[in-house]
Amino acid sequence: MGAFLSKAGITNVIIESSFHPRSHVGESMVTSSTRVFKEIGFLPVLEREGFVRKYGASWHAPDGDEFAIEFKEFPQDGVEQDYTYHVDRSKLDLLMLKHAESLGSKILQGVHVKQVLFDGQRANGVRISVAGQEVDLPCKFVVDASGRNTLIGNQLKLKVKDPVFDQYAVHAWFKNVNRGGAHTANFIHIYFLKIERGWVWQIPINEEITSMGVVADKTVYRESHKDIESYFNTHITSNPDLVRAMKDAVRINEFKTEGDYSYGLSKIVGDGFLCIGDAARFVDPIFSSGVSVALYSAKYASERIVNAFATGDFSEAALKPYETRLRGGVNIWYEFIRLYYKLLPLFTHFIQSKKHRLEVLRLLQGEVYDRSDVPVLDAMRRYIATVEKSDSHLLRSKLTSIPIDDLNF
Ligand SMILES: Cc1cc2nc3c(=O)[nH]c(=O)nc-3n(C[C@H](O)[C@H](O)[C@H](O)COP(=O)(O)OP(=O)(O)OC[C@H]3O[C@@H](n4cnc5c(N)ncnc54)[C@H](O)[C@@H]3O)c2cc1C
Repeated sequence: MGAFLSKAGITNVIIESSFHPRSHVGESMVTSSTRVFKEIGFLPVLEREGFVRKYGASWHAPDGDEFAIEFKEFPQDGVEQDYTYHVDRSKLDLLMLKHAESLGSKILQGVHVKQVLFDGQRANGVRISVAGQEVDLPCKFVVDASGRNTLIGNQLKLKVKDPVFDQYAVHAWFKNVNRGGAHTANFIHIYFLKIERGWVWQIPINEEITSMGVVADKTVYRESHKDIESYFNTHITSNPDLVRAMKDAVRINEFKTEGDYSYGLSKIVGDGFLCIGDAARFVDPIFSSGVSVALYSAKYASERIVNAFATGDFSEAALKPYETRLRGGVNIWYEFIRLYYKLLPLFTHFIQSKKHRLEVLRLLQGEVYDRSDVPVLDAMRRYIATVEKSDSHLLRSKLTSIPIDDLNF
Protein backbone atom coordinates (compact mmCIF):
# COMPACT_ATOMS: atom_id res chain seq x y z
CA MET A 1 0.00 0.00 0.00
CA GLY A 2 2.85 2.33 0.82
CA ALA A 3 4.41 1.67 -2.57
CA PHE A 4 1.15 2.24 -4.45
CA LEU A 5 0.34 5.47 -2.62
CA SER A 6 3.87 6.82 -2.94
CA LYS A 7 3.86 6.09 -6.66
CA ALA A 8 0.62 8.06 -6.92
CA GLY A 9 2.19 11.01 -5.09
CA ILE A 10 0.10 10.62 -1.92
CA THR A 11 2.04 11.35 1.26
CA ASN A 12 1.82 8.31 3.54
CA VAL A 13 3.21 6.98 6.80
CA ILE A 14 3.52 3.26 7.58
CA ILE A 15 3.23 2.67 11.31
CA GLU A 16 4.62 -0.71 12.34
CA SER A 17 4.63 -1.94 15.92
CA SER A 18 7.51 -4.39 15.54
CA PHE A 19 11.06 -3.79 14.41
CA HIS A 20 11.88 -5.55 11.15
CA PRO A 21 13.24 -8.10 10.48
CA ARG A 22 10.60 -10.06 12.39
CA SER A 23 9.52 -13.64 11.71
CA HIS A 24 6.09 -14.41 10.25
CA VAL A 25 4.07 -17.35 9.02
CA GLY A 26 3.01 -17.44 5.32
CA GLU A 27 6.09 -18.42 3.36
CA SER A 28 4.79 -19.75 0.06
CA MET A 29 3.18 -17.65 -2.67
CA VAL A 30 0.95 -18.04 -5.71
CA THR A 31 1.93 -16.84 -9.18
CA SER A 32 -0.69 -14.09 -9.52
CA SER A 33 1.32 -12.18 -6.88
CA THR A 34 3.97 -11.57 -9.54
CA ARG A 35 1.71 -9.03 -11.27
CA VAL A 36 1.51 -6.85 -8.18
CA PHE A 37 5.21 -7.16 -7.42
CA LYS A 38 5.92 -6.12 -11.00
CA GLU A 39 3.60 -3.14 -10.83
CA ILE A 40 5.34 -1.73 -7.76
CA GLY A 41 8.80 -2.44 -9.18
CA PHE A 42 9.61 -5.11 -6.60
CA LEU A 43 10.29 -8.06 -8.92
CA PRO A 44 13.97 -7.14 -9.45
CA VAL A 45 14.42 -7.17 -5.67
CA LEU A 46 12.92 -10.66 -5.39
CA GLU A 47 15.24 -11.87 -8.14
CA ARG A 48 18.30 -10.13 -6.73
CA GLU A 49 17.78 -11.62 -3.28
CA GLY A 50 17.62 -15.16 -4.66
CA PHE A 51 14.39 -16.31 -2.99
CA VAL A 52 13.62 -19.95 -3.74
CA ARG A 53 11.72 -20.26 -7.02
CA LYS A 54 8.43 -22.14 -6.70
CA TYR A 55 7.46 -23.82 -9.96
CA GLY A 56 4.57 -25.91 -8.70
CA ALA A 57 2.83 -27.85 -5.97
CA SER A 58 2.67 -31.49 -5.03
CA TRP A 59 0.12 -33.38 -2.92
CA HIS A 60 0.74 -36.64 -1.09
CA ALA A 61 -2.21 -38.85 -0.15
CA PRO A 62 -1.95 -41.06 2.96
CA ASP A 63 -1.82 -44.15 0.73
CA GLY A 64 1.42 -42.93 -0.88
CA ASP A 65 -0.13 -41.49 -4.08
CA GLU A 66 1.56 -38.27 -5.22
CA PHE A 67 0.32 -35.84 -7.85
CA ALA A 68 1.69 -32.46 -8.87
CA ILE A 69 0.90 -29.34 -10.89
CA GLU A 70 3.29 -26.92 -12.55
CA PHE A 71 2.37 -23.27 -12.99
CA LYS A 72 3.69 -23.22 -16.56
CA GLU A 73 0.84 -25.50 -17.66
CA PHE A 74 -1.45 -22.48 -17.78
CA PRO A 75 0.14 -19.19 -18.93
CA GLN A 76 -1.25 -16.15 -17.12
CA ASP A 77 -1.89 -12.73 -18.67
CA GLY A 78 0.67 -10.23 -17.48
CA VAL A 79 2.83 -12.85 -15.75
CA GLU A 80 6.02 -13.63 -17.67
CA GLN A 81 7.47 -16.01 -15.08
CA ASP A 82 6.37 -19.63 -14.76
CA TYR A 83 7.33 -19.56 -11.09
CA THR A 84 6.65 -17.63 -7.93
CA TYR A 85 8.62 -17.68 -4.66
CA HIS A 86 8.98 -19.29 -1.27
CA VAL A 87 10.22 -16.72 1.20
CA ASP A 88 11.73 -16.15 4.58
CA ARG A 89 9.14 -13.61 5.68
CA SER A 90 11.52 -11.77 7.98
CA LYS A 91 13.61 -10.99 4.92
CA LEU A 92 10.75 -10.38 2.48
CA ASP A 93 8.79 -8.08 4.77
CA LEU A 94 11.87 -5.97 5.58
CA LEU A 95 12.66 -5.66 1.87
CA MET A 96 9.08 -4.61 1.11
CA LEU A 97 9.19 -2.00 3.86
CA LYS A 98 12.48 -0.65 2.48
CA HIS A 99 11.01 -0.65 -1.00
CA ALA A 100 8.04 1.45 0.08
CA GLU A 101 10.48 3.79 1.84
CA SER A 102 12.58 4.11 -1.32
CA LEU A 103 9.45 5.22 -3.19
CA GLY A 104 8.62 7.88 -0.60
CA SER A 105 6.70 6.26 2.30
CA LYS A 106 7.71 7.35 5.76
CA ILE A 107 8.27 4.37 8.05
CA LEU A 108 7.81 4.38 11.81
CA GLN A 109 8.93 1.11 13.38
CA GLY A 110 8.39 0.11 17.01
CA VAL A 111 5.31 2.35 17.10
CA HIS A 112 2.03 0.76 18.12
CA VAL A 113 -1.31 2.08 16.90
CA LYS A 114 -3.65 1.91 19.89
CA GLN A 115 -6.78 3.01 18.13
CA VAL A 116 -8.17 4.75 15.10
CA LEU A 117 -9.62 8.17 15.88
CA PHE A 118 -13.01 9.24 14.57
CA ASP A 119 -14.95 12.46 14.17
CA GLY A 120 -18.43 10.94 14.36
CA GLN A 121 -18.32 8.13 11.77
CA ARG A 122 -15.36 9.56 9.89
CA ALA A 123 -11.85 8.23 10.61
CA ASN A 124 -9.47 11.17 10.96
CA GLY A 125 -6.35 9.94 12.72
CA VAL A 126 -4.66 7.37 14.90
CA ARG A 127 -3.57 7.26 18.53
CA ILE A 128 -0.07 5.82 18.74
CA SER A 129 2.00 4.72 21.63
CA VAL A 130 5.72 5.23 21.47
CA ALA A 131 8.29 5.06 24.27
CA GLY A 132 5.53 5.03 26.88
CA GLN A 133 3.85 8.14 25.42
CA GLU A 134 0.50 8.34 23.68
CA VAL A 135 0.25 10.75 20.78
CA ASP A 136 -2.65 11.53 18.43
CA LEU A 137 -1.73 11.83 14.76
CA PRO A 138 -4.34 13.42 12.51
CA CYS A 139 -4.62 12.25 8.91
CA LYS A 140 -6.96 12.35 5.93
CA PHE A 141 -7.28 8.62 5.52
CA VAL A 142 -6.54 5.46 7.56
CA VAL A 143 -5.64 2.09 6.07
CA ASP A 144 -5.78 -0.79 8.51
CA ALA A 145 -3.04 -3.26 7.49
CA SER A 146 -2.60 -4.70 10.99
CA GLY A 147 -2.94 -8.33 9.88
CA ARG A 148 -4.66 -10.75 12.21
CA ASN A 149 -4.58 -8.08 14.93
CA THR A 150 -7.55 -6.61 13.01
CA LEU A 151 -7.30 -3.23 14.68
CA ILE A 152 -10.44 -1.68 13.16
CA GLY A 153 -12.32 -4.99 13.08
CA ASN A 154 -11.94 -5.22 16.86
CA GLN A 155 -12.39 -1.55 17.62
CA LEU A 156 -15.65 -1.25 15.67
CA LYS A 157 -16.74 -4.82 16.52
CA LEU A 158 -16.96 -5.77 12.87
CA LYS A 159 -15.22 -9.12 13.21
CA VAL A 160 -17.20 -12.27 12.42
CA LYS A 161 -15.74 -15.65 13.33
CA ASP A 162 -15.67 -18.12 10.46
CA PRO A 163 -18.65 -20.44 11.02
CA VAL A 164 -16.86 -23.40 9.41
CA PHE A 165 -13.13 -23.29 10.00
CA ASP A 166 -11.35 -23.37 13.32
CA GLN A 167 -7.91 -24.63 12.35
CA TYR A 168 -4.79 -24.80 14.44
CA ALA A 169 -1.23 -24.85 13.10
CA VAL A 170 2.09 -25.88 14.64
CA HIS A 171 5.20 -25.09 12.63
CA ALA A 172 8.97 -24.78 12.75
CA TRP A 173 12.06 -24.74 10.52
CA PHE A 174 14.16 -27.86 9.94
CA LYS A 175 17.46 -28.84 8.33
CA ASN A 176 18.03 -32.11 6.46
CA VAL A 177 14.47 -32.53 5.23
CA ASN A 178 14.41 -34.89 2.26
CA ARG A 179 12.48 -32.71 -0.20
CA GLY A 180 12.00 -35.48 -2.75
CA GLY A 181 13.06 -35.83 -6.39
CA ALA A 182 15.07 -33.00 -7.99
CA HIS A 183 12.21 -31.90 -10.23
CA THR A 184 9.75 -31.24 -7.42
CA ALA A 185 12.21 -30.53 -4.59
CA ASN A 186 11.39 -26.82 -4.64
CA PHE A 187 7.63 -27.24 -5.01
CA ILE A 188 5.41 -26.73 -2.01
CA HIS A 189 4.51 -30.23 -0.78
CA ILE A 190 1.23 -30.87 1.00
CA TYR A 191 0.85 -34.15 2.88
CA PHE A 192 -2.69 -35.23 3.70
CA LEU A 193 -3.27 -36.57 7.20
CA LYS A 194 -6.03 -38.94 8.23
CA ILE A 195 -7.44 -36.47 10.74
CA GLU A 196 -10.16 -33.80 10.53
CA ARG A 197 -8.97 -31.27 7.92
CA GLY A 198 -5.41 -32.34 8.61
CA TRP A 199 -2.40 -31.63 6.42
CA VAL A 200 1.27 -30.77 6.61
CA TRP A 201 3.14 -28.16 4.57
CA GLN A 202 6.72 -28.48 3.37
CA ILE A 203 8.12 -25.17 2.13
CA PRO A 204 11.77 -24.70 1.15
CA ILE A 205 13.11 -21.48 2.69
CA ASN A 206 16.60 -21.76 1.22
CA GLU A 207 19.04 -24.51 0.19
CA GLU A 208 19.26 -25.85 3.73
CA ILE A 209 16.17 -24.81 5.64
CA THR A 210 12.65 -26.17 5.17
CA SER A 211 9.53 -24.92 6.92
CA MET A 212 7.21 -27.70 8.11
CA GLY A 213 3.75 -27.10 9.57
CA VAL A 214 1.01 -29.38 10.87
CA VAL A 215 -2.52 -28.03 10.38
CA ALA A 216 -5.79 -29.56 11.60
CA ASP A 217 -9.09 -28.70 13.19
CA LYS A 218 -8.43 -27.25 16.64
CA THR A 219 -10.37 -30.03 18.35
CA VAL A 220 -7.75 -32.52 17.12
CA TYR A 221 -5.09 -30.67 19.10
CA ARG A 222 -7.35 -30.05 22.10
CA GLU A 223 -8.41 -33.67 22.35
CA SER A 224 -4.87 -34.99 21.89
CA HIS A 225 -3.89 -33.66 25.37
CA LYS A 226 -0.33 -33.53 24.07
CA ASP A 227 2.33 -30.87 24.31
CA ILE A 228 3.16 -29.07 21.05
CA GLU A 229 6.22 -31.15 20.25
CA SER A 230 4.61 -34.56 20.75
CA TYR A 231 1.53 -33.39 18.85
CA PHE A 232 3.71 -32.36 15.90
CA ASN A 233 5.77 -35.57 16.05
CA THR A 234 2.69 -37.78 16.17
CA HIS A 235 1.33 -36.30 12.97
CA ILE A 236 4.49 -36.33 10.95
CA THR A 237 4.60 -40.10 11.34
CA SER A 238 1.14 -40.64 9.87
CA ASN A 239 1.90 -40.28 6.14
CA PRO A 240 4.55 -42.56 4.57
CA ASP A 241 5.96 -39.85 2.27
CA LEU A 242 6.21 -37.49 5.20
CA VAL A 243 8.06 -40.09 7.26
CA ARG A 244 10.57 -40.31 4.40
CA ALA A 245 10.90 -36.54 4.21
CA MET A 246 11.47 -36.13 7.96
CA LYS A 247 13.70 -39.17 8.57
CA ASP A 248 16.91 -37.14 9.18
CA ALA A 249 15.28 -33.78 9.88
CA VAL A 250 16.66 -31.61 12.67
CA ARG A 251 14.61 -28.75 14.06
CA ILE A 252 16.50 -25.44 14.19
CA ASN A 253 14.07 -23.05 15.87
CA GLU A 254 11.22 -23.06 18.37
CA PHE A 255 7.78 -24.36 17.42
CA LYS A 256 5.24 -21.63 16.76
CA THR A 257 1.48 -22.01 16.88
CA GLU A 258 -1.32 -20.19 15.10
CA GLY A 259 -4.99 -20.50 16.08
CA ASP A 260 -8.38 -18.80 15.65
CA TYR A 261 -7.30 -17.50 12.33
CA SER A 262 -10.34 -17.71 10.07
CA TYR A 263 -12.73 -14.75 10.12
CA GLY A 264 -14.32 -12.01 8.09
CA LEU A 265 -15.45 -8.44 8.78
CA SER A 266 -19.05 -7.33 8.38
CA LYS A 267 -17.67 -4.36 6.44
CA ILE A 268 -14.16 -3.49 5.34
CA VAL A 269 -14.62 0.13 4.31
CA GLY A 270 -16.10 3.12 6.12
CA ASP A 271 -15.91 6.91 5.96
CA GLY A 272 -12.21 7.72 5.77
CA PHE A 273 -10.90 4.18 6.28
CA LEU A 274 -10.53 0.75 4.80
CA CYS A 275 -8.92 -2.56 5.71
CA ILE A 276 -6.53 -4.65 3.60
CA GLY A 277 -4.89 -8.08 3.83
CA ASP A 278 -5.52 -10.13 6.93
CA ALA A 279 -7.01 -7.05 8.59
CA ALA A 280 -9.94 -7.47 6.16
CA ARG A 281 -10.42 -11.23 5.97
CA PHE A 282 -8.58 -14.46 6.60
CA VAL A 283 -9.32 -17.71 4.82
CA ASP A 284 -7.71 -21.07 5.52
CA PRO A 285 -4.13 -21.19 4.16
CA ILE A 286 -4.34 -24.56 2.36
CA PHE A 287 -3.79 -22.93 -1.06
CA SER A 288 -1.21 -20.31 0.03
CA SER A 289 -3.60 -17.46 -0.78
CA GLY A 290 -2.85 -15.02 2.08
CA VAL A 291 0.02 -12.94 0.70
CA SER A 292 -1.69 -12.63 -2.68
CA VAL A 293 -4.87 -11.38 -0.98
CA ALA A 294 -2.77 -8.84 0.94
CA LEU A 295 -1.12 -7.68 -2.31
CA TYR A 296 -4.29 -7.48 -4.40
CA SER A 297 -6.26 -5.81 -1.64
CA ALA A 298 -3.55 -3.14 -1.42
CA LYS A 299 -3.64 -2.68 -5.19
CA TYR A 300 -7.43 -2.43 -5.48
CA ALA A 301 -7.81 -0.33 -2.34
CA SER A 302 -5.11 2.10 -3.45
CA GLU A 303 -7.05 2.75 -6.66
CA ARG A 304 -10.06 3.90 -4.60
CA ILE A 305 -7.87 5.97 -2.28
CA VAL A 306 -6.24 7.74 -5.21
CA ASN A 307 -9.73 8.43 -6.52
CA ALA A 308 -10.84 9.72 -3.11
CA PHE A 309 -7.94 12.18 -2.98
CA ALA A 310 -8.74 13.33 -6.51
CA THR A 311 -12.44 13.91 -5.84
CA GLY A 312 -12.33 14.80 -2.15
CA ASP A 313 -14.93 12.09 -1.52
CA PHE A 314 -13.67 9.78 1.26
CA SER A 315 -17.09 8.35 2.04
CA GLU A 316 -17.93 4.70 2.61
CA ALA A 317 -20.02 4.76 -0.59
CA ALA A 318 -17.06 5.95 -2.65
CA LEU A 319 -14.88 3.15 -1.27
CA LYS A 320 -17.48 0.38 -1.57
CA PRO A 321 -16.38 -0.81 -5.05
CA TYR A 322 -13.10 -1.92 -3.44
CA GLU A 323 -14.99 -3.99 -0.87
CA THR A 324 -17.15 -5.61 -3.54
CA ARG A 325 -14.15 -6.48 -5.69
CA LEU A 326 -12.11 -7.91 -2.84
CA ARG A 327 -15.01 -9.91 -1.42
CA GLY A 328 -15.72 -11.34 -4.89
CA GLY A 329 -12.15 -12.67 -5.17
CA VAL A 330 -11.77 -13.93 -1.62
CA ASN A 331 -15.18 -15.63 -1.76
CA ILE A 332 -13.90 -17.68 -4.70
CA TRP A 333 -10.90 -18.77 -2.64
CA TYR A 334 -13.29 -19.58 0.20
CA GLU A 335 -15.61 -21.67 -1.98
CA PHE A 336 -12.68 -23.54 -3.44
CA ILE A 337 -11.34 -24.26 0.05
CA ARG A 338 -14.72 -25.44 1.35
CA LEU A 339 -15.27 -27.80 -1.58
CA TYR A 340 -11.74 -29.10 -1.15
CA TYR A 341 -12.33 -29.98 2.48
CA LYS A 342 -15.82 -31.30 1.77
CA LEU A 343 -14.54 -34.14 -0.38
CA LEU A 344 -10.78 -34.47 -0.64
CA PRO A 345 -10.71 -37.14 -3.38
CA LEU A 346 -12.74 -34.77 -5.56
CA PHE A 347 -9.83 -32.31 -5.67
CA THR A 348 -7.47 -35.16 -6.53
CA HIS A 349 -9.86 -36.33 -9.22
CA PHE A 350 -10.41 -32.87 -10.75
CA ILE A 351 -6.74 -31.98 -10.81
CA GLN A 352 -5.96 -35.20 -12.62
CA SER A 353 -8.85 -34.91 -15.09
CA LYS A 354 -8.17 -33.48 -18.56
CA LYS A 355 -11.43 -31.59 -18.47
CA HIS A 356 -10.94 -29.71 -15.20
CA ARG A 357 -7.20 -29.59 -14.57
CA LEU A 358 -6.45 -26.21 -16.13
CA GLU A 359 -9.40 -24.52 -14.48
CA VAL A 360 -8.33 -25.84 -11.08
CA LEU A 361 -4.78 -24.75 -11.81
CA ARG A 362 -6.03 -21.27 -12.67
CA LEU A 363 -7.50 -21.03 -9.18
CA LEU A 364 -4.31 -22.35 -7.62
CA GLN A 365 -2.41 -19.61 -9.46
CA GLY A 366 -4.62 -17.10 -7.68
CA GLU A 367 -6.80 -15.99 -10.61
CA VAL A 368 -9.87 -15.18 -8.52
CA TYR A 369 -10.60 -11.50 -9.11
CA ASP A 370 -13.21 -9.89 -11.38
CA ARG A 371 -14.74 -13.25 -12.27
CA SER A 372 -18.52 -13.40 -12.51
CA ASP A 373 -18.61 -17.19 -12.62
CA VAL A 374 -16.26 -20.08 -11.98
CA PRO A 375 -17.65 -23.10 -13.83
CA VAL A 376 -15.19 -25.52 -12.25
CA LEU A 377 -16.57 -24.74 -8.78
CA ASP A 378 -20.10 -25.39 -10.08
CA ALA A 379 -18.89 -28.72 -11.50
CA MET A 380 -17.38 -29.61 -8.11
CA ARG A 381 -20.65 -28.74 -6.38
CA ARG A 382 -22.64 -30.90 -8.83
CA TYR A 383 -20.25 -33.80 -8.27
CA ILE A 384 -20.63 -33.51 -4.50
CA ALA A 385 -24.44 -33.42 -4.86
CA THR A 386 -24.28 -36.69 -6.82
CA VAL A 387 -22.16 -38.33 -4.15
CA GLU A 388 -24.51 -37.08 -1.42
CA LYS A 389 -27.53 -38.55 -3.20
CA SER A 390 -26.10 -42.01 -3.74
CA ASP A 391 -25.69 -44.31 -0.74
CA SER A 392 -23.57 -46.69 -2.77
CA HIS A 393 -21.16 -44.12 -4.25
CA LEU A 394 -17.53 -45.13 -3.75
CA LEU A 395 -16.69 -41.71 -2.31
CA ARG A 396 -19.71 -41.51 -0.04
CA SER A 397 -17.72 -42.36 3.09
CA LYS A 398 -15.20 -39.62 2.28
CA LEU A 399 -17.73 -36.78 2.56
CA THR A 400 -17.05 -34.53 5.53
CA SER A 401 -19.49 -32.47 7.56
CA ILE A 402 -18.39 -29.13 6.00
CA PRO A 403 -21.49 -27.16 4.96
CA ILE A 404 -21.27 -26.02 1.35
CA ASP A 405 -24.63 -24.32 0.99
CA ASP A 406 -24.74 -20.52 0.82
CA LEU A 407 -23.19 -19.00 3.88
CA ASN A 408 -23.80 -15.35 4.54
CA PHE A 409 -20.16 -14.81 5.47
C1 LIG B 1 -0.92 -21.32 9.57
C2 LIG B 1 -0.81 -20.29 8.47
C3 LIG B 1 -0.13 -20.59 7.31
C4 LIG B 1 -0.05 -19.65 6.27
N1 LIG B 1 0.59 -19.98 5.10
C5 LIG B 1 0.59 -19.10 4.08
C6 LIG B 1 1.27 -19.38 2.86
O1 LIG B 1 1.90 -20.43 2.69
N2 LIG B 1 1.21 -18.46 1.86
C7 LIG B 1 0.55 -17.27 2.00
O2 LIG B 1 0.51 -16.48 1.05
N3 LIG B 1 -0.05 -16.96 3.17
C8 LIG B 1 -0.04 -17.82 4.20
N4 LIG B 1 -0.61 -17.47 5.38
C9 LIG B 1 -1.27 -16.17 5.46
C10 LIG B 1 -0.28 -15.01 5.62
O3 LIG B 1 0.47 -15.18 6.79
C11 LIG B 1 -1.04 -13.69 5.68
O4 LIG B 1 -2.16 -13.73 4.83
C12 LIG B 1 -0.20 -12.48 5.31
O5 LIG B 1 0.95 -12.41 6.10
C13 LIG B 1 -1.04 -11.21 5.45
O6 LIG B 1 -0.25 -10.06 5.34
P1 LIG B 1 -0.71 -8.70 6.01
O7 LIG B 1 0.23 -7.68 5.51
O8 LIG B 1 -2.16 -8.50 5.84
O9 LIG B 1 -0.49 -8.91 7.57
P2 LIG B 1 0.85 -9.19 8.36
O10 LIG B 1 1.87 -9.77 7.45
O11 LIG B 1 0.48 -9.95 9.58
O12 LIG B 1 1.35 -7.73 8.76
C14 LIG B 1 0.68 -6.97 9.71
C15 LIG B 1 1.70 -6.05 10.38
O13 LIG B 1 1.00 -5.12 11.18
C16 LIG B 1 1.72 -4.92 12.37
N5 LIG B 1 0.74 -4.49 13.38
C17 LIG B 1 -0.29 -5.22 13.87
N6 LIG B 1 -1.01 -4.49 14.73
C18 LIG B 1 -0.43 -3.27 14.76
C19 LIG B 1 -0.71 -2.07 15.47
N7 LIG B 1 -1.77 -1.97 16.30
N8 LIG B 1 0.10 -0.99 15.29
C20 LIG B 1 1.15 -1.07 14.43
N9 LIG B 1 1.47 -2.18 13.74
C21 LIG B 1 0.68 -3.26 13.91
C22 LIG B 1 2.34 -6.27 12.68
O14 LIG B 1 3.50 -6.10 13.48
C23 LIG B 1 2.65 -6.79 11.29
O15 LIG B 1 3.98 -6.53 10.90
C24 LIG B 1 -0.66 -18.39 6.43
C25 LIG B 1 -1.29 -18.07 7.63
C26 LIG B 1 -1.38 -19.00 8.65
C27 LIG B 1 -2.09 -18.63 9.92
